[in-house]
This record gives sequence, structure tokens and C-alpha cells, in this order.
Amino acid sequence: MLEIDNLTVAIQENEEQVLKHLSLTIKPGEVHAIMGPNGVGKSTLSKVIMGHPDYQVLEGSIRYQGQDITSLATDERARLGIFLLMQDPAVIEGVTNSECIRTALNERSDKPVNLYQFIKQMNEKMDSLHMDKTMMHRFVNQGFSGGEKKKNEVLQLSMLEPDFIILDELDSGLDVDSLKLVCQKLQDYKQEHPNCSMLIITHYARVLDLLKPDYVHQMMEGAIVKTGDITLAYDIEKTGYHGINEIRKMMTDE
Ligand code: ADP
Ligand code: MG
Repeated sequence: MLEIDNLTVAIQENEEQVLKHLSLTIKPGEVHAIMGPNGVGKSTLSKVIMGHPDYQVLEGSIRYQGQDITSLATDERARLGIFLLMQDPAVIEGVTNSECIRTALNERSDKPVNLYQFIKQMNEKMDSLHMDKTMMHRFVNQGFSGGEKKKNEVLQLSMLEPDFIILDELDSGLDVDSLKLVCQKLQDYKQEHPNCSMLIITHYARVLDLLKPDYVHQMMEGAIVKTGDITLAYDIEKTGYHGINEIRKMMTDE
């Protein structure tokens, strides 16, 4: 589904290298999680997969469903079915939520979206996410609380039905009940779309308890340094990244 090979990425503005020879393969239907301290490049990775213009790929490639997408524009990647739930969702003044989602849906199909069907579907999805209906007509994310923004991202996701989903710190901003609800919706989505793959970036094992990853990766300084199953997430939570590295160092020194 997604093959990242030897990816080295620099920030356009200051040429600082954030990702260094990072490789990661995600097969159809697999759920992968990435954990790592602040500033190691997790969000950069998610933005580079989506084609964010702030970053320059110096080396390596990203392939999606067999196609090299390393130099594709963001909208083309989105059209191919990649969706990024942002750590910090952008506010789009002047564009309402419903316009935004309807335009995106229209962009993807040859015939215009049926308005009646669209509104019905939006209403149902907003109900299921316990979202206030007035949000449909508000500008995208403007004045939304942190949790409301995250729910709004999940609403977009469920309307657009992507095949590859990146969740960048889904948990930040969501209260405990909303987090459970949103994770349940994502699990339901997964059931309905068994070939959909996910890449989950989080600091908390509890999110992974709810989303059940097949693999957990630890990221340090722009590369994946360790891969395991959910027990790696529990270890990280118990000992911290520093503790894990100390143990690793002791093992390699021996
Ligand atoms: P993480 O998500 O792992 O906490 P990020 O990927 O957001 O980390 O950032 C990695 C490093 O790169 C940080 O030091 C951050 O300040 C820097 N960085 C990322 N994007 C930019 C940017 N557009 N401009 C300047 N610095 C950036
Ligand atoms: Mg981040």
C-alpha cells in the first residue's frame, strides 16, 4: 500500500534535515503506529507523505499502491485516497464545512454529488460523532475547540472514504469520552473498509489499545529505530524513550 524507501527530507526554509534514511512499508489493511519524543520528525513524516511544500525530499522515494508519488502535488495524493488527520487542523476562513467536503467529493467524481444524499449523509455522520449540526455551516475549524477540530477531521474522513489514513496525534484535544467515540468510529470504518491501512502517530498506549495496531515503531532523530507490537508501546509508557534506549545500548554493548 505504502512503501517509504530510504527517505531523507529537509525543511525548505533552513535546509535542516528532519528525516534521515527512513524506511517503512505498510501493506493493505495493516495498522502501524509511530511513537517518539517531541521534535523527532513524526509530523514531518506525515506531512511529507501528503506532499507538504515546506519540505524537500533529498533522497529516497514514497510509493503508494505501486505508484511513485514522491513528487505528486497534495491534491493528487488526496485524490488517490490518502488522508491526513492533522495534529493541528487548519482554519479555513470563508469556506464552510459543508462546502469544503462537498467540493472535495465533487473533485473526486465525474458527476456532481447529489445534494439531498449529501446532506442526509452529513447529518447522519455528525449525529454519530455527537457533533453540533450548526458546525456544518460554520467556516472550517474557525472557533472550534481542539476536540471539535479533531472530530471535524474524522467527519471529513468518513465522508471522503480514503484508503490510507494518517492520524497525527488524534488524541490531543479530545476528552476521554470523545476519544473513545472517535476510536470506535475509526474501528467501524476499518471493519467496513478492510483494505484501508492506517498510520497512527501518538504518545499514548491507550489510543493504541483502542485502535489495535499490527506494528508499533519507535522513532528517534528522523528514523525508525525499533519495531515491535503493542508491547513496545507499553514498554515506552513504562520506561520512557530514554529508558528504552539505555536498555538497547546495554544490549548492543554486551
Ligand atoms: P514531532 O511531530 O515528532 O514532534 P515535527 O516533525 O513537527 O516533530 O518537527 C521535527 C523538527 O523539525 C522540530 O525541531 C521542528 O521544529 C522542525 N520543523 C518541522 N517543520 C518545520 C518547518 N516547517 N519550519 C521550521 N522547522 C520545522
Ligand atoms: Mg508532531
